Amino acid sequence: MIQSHAYQDKNIAVFGLGKSGMATARQLHLGAAHVYVWDDNEARRKAAADAGLTVRDLTDNGWPEAEALVLSPGVPLTHPAPHPVVGAARRAGAAVIGDVEIFLNEMKAGRLVGVTGTNGKSTTSALIHHLLQSAGRETALGGNIGRPVMDLPALSDAGCYVLELSSYQLDLTPSWRADVAILLNITPDHLDRHGDMDGYAAVKKRIFQHQQETGVAIINIDDARCEHIATSLAIHGNGRVIPISTMYPANGGVSVIDGRLEDRSSDDQSWTMDISKIGSLRGRHNWQNAAAAVAAARSLGLSAEEISAGLNSFGGLAHRMEEVGRAGKLLFINDSKATNAEAAEKALVSFENIYWIAGGREKTGGITTLQPHFGRIRKAFLIGEAAEPFAATLKGNVPFEISGDLETAVRQATRAATDDGAGPAVVLLSPAAASFDQFTSFEARGDAFREVVRKLIAEEL
Ligand code: ADP
Repeated sequence: MIQSHAYQDKNIAVFGLGKSGMATARQLHLGAAHVYVWDDNEARRKAAADAGLTVRDLTDNGWPEAEALVLSPGVPLTHPAPHPVVGAARRAGAAVIGDVEIFLNEMKAGRLVGVTGTNGKSTTSALIHHLLQSAGRETALGGNIGRPVMDLPALSDAGCYVLELSSYQLDLTPSWRADVAILLNITPDHLDRHGDMDGYAAVKKRIFQHQQETGVAIINIDDARCEHIATSLAIHGNGRVIPISTMYPANGGVSVIDGRLEDRSSDDQSWTMDISKIGSLRGRHNWQNAAAAVAAARSLGLSAEEISAGLNSFGGLAHRMEEVGRAGKLLFINDSKATNAEAAEKALVSFENIYWIAGGREKTGGITTLQPHFGRIRKAFLIGEAAEPFAATLKGNVPFEISGDLETAVRQATRAATDDGAGPAVVLLSPAAASFDQFTSFEARGDAFREVVRKLIAEEL
């Protein structure tokens, strides 16, 4: 654990008591700070009080003359309007920061790898962590994935922290400085919280701020906004820029084209590897993640042999095109994290002969953008609130059934795929819709899918 002594005997406020807020408050409290906490949720306030923290309504003239406010990344800092607690802190001249800022102040040893981007952050962070771990290096993974930063272990000089950072977290980390920083992509998302694309890109660019001459900046140059940032860093930045691409052989960088990885990031030794058969790295989007992870691992001193062994043994993350079963010619894929059409597209283009389970709570635009990929779908099995609107889009293009619930859909899809007499087929849950109409989260939906698949395989389908 990273205990924080920087605020010893001082007042500090923590707003938002999720996992990371609680971890921060606890460590500050152990470091003898006077910690004032608040959350709109009563159960969380009670848990904080039970943990010995001082609960105070920070938004209602309750500002405790604190030196800093540690804000949960979920709370608006600037757009659409600053939360009242941010106003209270600013009027009192307090710094408004996040848990990563506290962590950086306390971090005594080890190197820092930061990963950001609109999509692929978790996969890339987990892959870098896995490559380091499988090569026997000391490493810890946290931030937006896995453990909150303040719950990470203290590492030695040889260790490496791999942190996944959202734009919200970057916004709250003025001292951010990475040894290895990665920007995967920038596509429109969360614009309500960043004003516009320029504002969003400006925050993402902060992953590279304060880098030293020894620092490494890894950027995907297939994305116009990222390429622009790469060019500007090559001219004005301190460290080295390593480009990655899934379209072109990247000069001095890492590319993955049609599944062939080519690492030219190190002058002395370029190497290549076919990653097209690695199940956990299916799809071009995952090739981008792999290229970024390989560039990072290489710049941290891993050999080509260590990296290639690590890529081969990567298990992937749950709910992201996760292989949950095989039975004869059938492959079962859980892509429950695909809560919109853009994410589901990644799965549809990665497979053929698809028995597609989709639906849930519909997002704006539905599945109309997926039309170019309808030819890959043998039949669709529709669930939840979106079943009818999805059916309307599929009508005349793709055969479908309104299955209603997930278990029925899995059973019907499996039966249809088994009976079709054709070659290998995929039963794919990639809902292109939110889960909240029938499940508490996309994780619960994916777990339910895995469970039904397990049952069906045990029953020999
Ligand atoms: P994040 O942590 O940024 O949300 P994840 O690694 O959890 O990203 O992946 C979430 C989803 O985003 C995946 O299921 C896939 O649909 C899509 N995705 C993953 N990597 C990329 C990428 N490099 N580019 C575009 N989309 C991606």
